Amino acid sequence: MKDLQGLKTLLASPKKVVIVTHFKPDADALGSSLGLAGYLVKKGHSVAVISPSDYPDFLAWMPGKEMVIALTKDSIVPQQKAKALIEACDILFCLDFSSLKRINEVGDMVKTSTAKKVMIDHHLEPEKFADFEKWDVSSASTAELIFELIDEWGDLELIDQDIANCLYAGLMTDTGGFRHNNTTNKEFLIASELVSRGANPSEVAKKIYDTNSLERLRLTGYALSQKLVVLPEYNTAYMTLTWEELRQFGSQTGDTEGLVNYGLSIKGIKMAVLMYDRKEEIKLSFRSLADFDVNALARKHFEGGGHKNASGGQSKQNLEETLKKFLAILPEYKADLNK
Ligand code: 5GP
Ligand code: MN
Repeated sequence: MKDLQGLKTLLASPKKVVIVTHFKPDADALGSSLGLAGYLVKKGHSVAVISPSDYPDFLAWMPGKEMVIALTKDSIVPQQKAKALIEACDILFCLDFSSLKRINEVGDMVKTSTAKKVMIDHHLEPEKFADFEKWDVSSASTAELIFELIDEWGDLELIDQDIANCLYAGLMTDTGGFRHNNTTNKEFLIASELVSRGANPSEVAKKIYDTNSLERLRLTGYALSQKLVVLPEYNTAYMTLTWEELRQFGSQTGDTEGLVNYGLSIKGIKMAVLMYDRKEEIKLSFRSLADFDVNALARKHFEGGGHKNASGGQSKQNLEETLKKFLAILPEYKADLNK
């Protein structure tokens, strides 16, 4: 039962809906969730959004954020709320992820839920856990899948400025500001539709890209001047940041976002990697050019995945050991990195 017509029928009468997105949500995760939430509220449903963790400050402007329950390490209350909501809901949307590992402890709640599950995502190699799927790897963002869903259901006129700004934010960031090779005619057409419905490109860009704290900028400067390593024989650049270094710059959630891209901006570099200590684990971010497949690398060696040219992963070893492991696997990829 994967076609969405059945879902449309289910949503013909008011339902209790929960939308879950991935751990440490980015603008596409939160923007697609709040865009969908805004639309479903307009259709008469009761809606809650669950984030398995906190989210960056530069997303706090998003309209509808009062619907978000974000799990934290400091309190059990949001987790209990999330559990109760998931147990009681009729329909459970999973947005911008398709592997239950990516929602940590919320994964078990989703697994055991008796609600109808809907997975809407654009990442490679999805798990099969949903009753309904809208999955398209050719889509640059989950936000545009939400746009397409609303369009297919004949409800484009319900996209107001708030919904448009949320969806535009996801589309803008997952295309790297309409620069990555996932940017096609379709992305511009959808962006155009969103702008004609009130999305404000310069405001959204300003809020997401140009609201840095001085500490975040200093962290970027430090990482670039002190921590960026280039391995010419592998056309690879990497940076590592220890927990202490992150603390030294008062690092907040989201402060490392985008840092990995600097490595890839170096002429000739085919793969860029950022590894940093999240205390409970080491987080890895991979970016690549053209045919070099970081999804395969992250999946094989770092319990991760994502897209061919942008993936993430994690390691339970410490930072030093994780770096050692990464350096040790590079010879396996030497030929591809030198193509
Ligand atoms: P980032 O490096 O910015 O965290 O993630 C890059 C891309 O890979 C994003 O599309 C993100 O959703 C995805 N991603 C990040 N971490 C993981 C992971 O552990 N598993 C999978 N399957 N995808 C990930
Ligand atoms: Mn996405």
